[in-house]
Amino acid sequence: MEKIDVLIIGAGPAGSVSSAYLNKLGYKTLVLEKTQFPRFVIGESLLPHCMDHLEEVGFLENVKKAGFQIKTGAAFYKGDKRVDFLFENQFTKGWTWTWQVKRAEFDTILINTAKEQGVPVKFRSEVTSVKCGPDKQIVTYMDEYEVEHTVEARFIIDASGYGRVLPRLFNLEEEVSTPARGAVFCHIHDTKRTGKQGENIFMHSFRNNKAWIWAIPFSDKTTSVGVVSDTEFVGEFAEDGGKKFLEHIRSFKDLNGRFAEEELVFQPREILGYAKRAKQLHGEGYVMCGNATEFLDPIFSSGVTLATGSGLLAAKLVHRQLTGEIIDWQTQYEDLMRKGVDVFRSFVLGWYNGDIQTIFFANAIEANIKEQVCSILAGYVWDENNPLVKKHKTIVPALAQVIRMNEVA
Ligand SMILES: Cc1cc2nc3c(=O)[nH]c(=O)nc-3n(C[C@H](O)[C@H](O)[C@H](O)COP(=O)(O)OP(=O)(O)OC[C@H]3O[C@@H](n4cnc5c(N)ncnc54)[C@H](O)[C@@H]3O)c2cc1C
Repeated sequence: MEKIDVLIIGAGPAGSVSSAYLNKLGYKTLVLEKTQFPRFVIGESLLPHCMDHLEEVGFLENVKKAGFQIKTGAAFYKGDKRVDFLFENQFTKGWTWTWQVKRAEFDTILINTAKEQGVPVKFRSEVTSVKCGPDKQIVTYMDEYEVEHTVEARFIIDASGYGRVLPRLFNLEEEVSTPARGAVFCHIHDTKRTGKQGENIFMHSFRNNKAWIWAIPFSDKTTSVGVVSDTEFVGEFAEDGGKKFLEHIRSFKDLNGRFAEEELVFQPREILGYAKRAKQLHGEGYVMCGNATEFLDPIFSSGVTLATGSGLLAAKLVHRQLTGEIIDWQTQYEDLMRKGVDVFRSFVLGWYNGDIQTIFFANAIEANIKEQVCSILAGYVWDENNPLVKKHKTIVPALAQVIRMNEVA
């Protein structure tokens, strides 16, 4: 039986970052990935904070070479109102830009860079069972020829994303309290976009805060467009080979004209009921990171940044544990990760109950509040110097209430 130090399940952003970090420290790692890369996955708009993570593991230079679309901010629309958040106007001193990426290409660059650095990766290798104990973890996987293999590891990092390998195997999945939502999306040719306005991601709220549409332009003059809403509403758009979807996106003021004569790159795809949560993020001999832990909602593009951030933190703590330190996984990992996720949760809940939209589309939004919001939209959700991070649960509803009262008066 092959014996290694750390086995990583999944070669997405969380798996790439965590494996690269541990490999640099000399650990014997192995990444097992179910699919063959490049593979499609949704989640194309990054946040500036993920640049910190990519830089720390030495991925940034290779990603730069790919020439992805630069993202300097995000715009939100509601009816005729538009608000732009530019990352150069931030409370937290961090990265002021990032990229909008086709994930098939981006994820391949990340895992290939990890491979160049020495990380062994086995594609078409699906983890099927895991047994954890105090000193050794036994992992079984099936290769592309349906041959079963067993590996013994000192520690496991579950970075299996939507696969949620350990939450499923260890019965750790938990219901989420938010309504079941879904998304229908496609890539569309986008040859008529103009200037900076056409380059950054935008989100357009409609159906009285219940639905929104995204447009994420790529550098090859195609754009990702998707509609998010309750599962029944989005289901209709996936039914007629894209006709209704195209009609719908053409009905939006800012999209109309831009896509009037453009063709879809592929038929709309749907993903339903993606909001999931694991009851616990760690146990004897294992830790979960990225989407395997929880996925809330795509509105603020937080998924990849939470994946790279949690992957990096998990790897750092695994290293410390393997060198003999006693790690309190609850406080040093789970509570810390959940703290950042909870900031996004306040924003997500506030988006759908209207509080965040009241703040974003206020007649006048104070510059300091806008800067604090901007840092959250950039992914700096652990910066407790930011008052909006520290007191997100109370500030969001209170601020929305004040704005509503002022606008009525
Ligand atoms: C509609 C929608 C829109 C989104 N938009 C954005 C966005 O704009 N920006 C953003 O940052 N995020 C977005 N996301 C979230 C984003 O998709 C995820 O958060 C992100 O991909 C998580 O990365 P990860 O590394 O955790 O997992 P993944 O990228 O899912 O990678 C996990 C890997 O594990 C592999 N795997 C699974 N099971 C097994 C197994 N048994 N054995 C071996 N390997 C396995 C998978 O094949 C996969 O390659 C969106 C999500 C949705 C639903």
